[in-house]
Amino acid sequence: ASPLKVCIVGSGNWGSAVAKIIGNNVKKFEKFASVVKMWVFEETVNGRKLTDIINNDHENVKYLPGHKLPENVFIHRICDEISGKVPKGALGISLIKGIDEGPEGLKLISDIIREKMGIDISVLMGANTANEVASGKFCETTIGSKVTENGLLFKELLQTPDFLITVVDDADTVELCGALKNTVAMEAGFCDGLHCGDNTKAAVIRLGLMEMIAFTRIFCKGQVSTATFLESCGIADLITTCCGGRNRKVAEAFARAGRTIEELEREMLNGQKLQGPQTSAEMYRILKQKGLLDKFPLFTAVYQICYEGRPVQEMLSCLQRHPEHI
Ligand code: NAD
Ligand code: 13P
Repeated sequence: ASPLKVCIVGSGNWGSAVAKIIGNNVKKFEKFASVVKMWVFEETVNGRKLTDIINNDHENVKYLPGHKLPENVFIHRICDEISGKVPKGALGISLIKGIDEGPEGLKLISDIIREKMGIDISVLMGANTANEVASGKFCETTIGSKVTENGLLFKELLQTPDFLITVVDDADTVELCGALKNTVAMEAGFCDGLHCGDNTKAAVIRLGLMEMIAFTRIFCKGQVSTATFLESCGIADLITTCCGGRNRKVAEAFARAGRTIEELEREMLNGQKLQGPQTSAEMYRILKQKGLLDKFPLFTAVYQICYEGRPVQEMLSCLQRHPEHI
């Protein structure tokens, strides 16, 4: 069989870190083609096109500075109409931690890609801060795949001794873990901004996890295994994001500075994007539509604090009056 061609769509902080793993792995296995194409959202950095910088200097100087990408990773400018050009037998894996809304409420990103492309989509989510992954620091991650064989193929492509992968079959649970934890991370950042201490943050993580499980049970169409929340995509990603993530960092500054999330994101992240506030807004609308806001006080508070001027201190009363304690 001819070697499987790999293409990475997206070249931010995480896409670039993963390009490093994939670029090195494909050189080791004959089953994969040795050149990896990567799509980038073009922009000018220091007077040069980002694509030229990556192709010539092998570094994404804007989104993953300080890390050389393997020389077999090239940027291919895929047009917006990528869908018509993807072969039928292609397989996809989404590393995007977010959700969308459709007319019927929750819409998974993997479902959108699956529908647009007409191909099978797995997901990869875990405790994987991109800069640490790019530095080769040990971590675990989770692949969720409805077709186990495809999950195992992606494991071959992506695993390294410092990036250990577990494959599970309730892919929708894995994807929701990745998306929902960003909202909990905002709450953890508020906690830090208010100097609440480690015990309070642990309560935020625990109660946040309970809301994640409850949300997933209500909105997941497929099976939901509680054990999946104990995988890297669940509790471990919550811990890393609530300790060191960008959402946490910006939320902490927000609680201290009284500036808008958008201003702080622009000033603190150099073009990188937060997923937490946007996800909280989508979750808020989805929960409101179903009349479920009072069952999810932490998720609801993140949206109201970010966008509706609710005082940050009120997150403490949400913890005290949480349904888990009634
Ligand atoms: P990022 O925040 O580093 O960068 C944003 C990206 O969006 C850049 O590549 C930029 O070029 C692109 N972009 C900006 N405007 C655009 C537009 N109009 N059209 C198309 N692209 C545009 O991104 P990231 O950190 O790689 O995050 C991507 C996904 O990966 C997110 O869902 C995130 O939650 C997830 N993730 C991130 C990390 C991490 O540590 N960074 C780890 C795991 C998962
Ligand atoms: P942040 O976007 O909050 O940095 O989280 C990154 C992440 O998903 C780590 O697993």
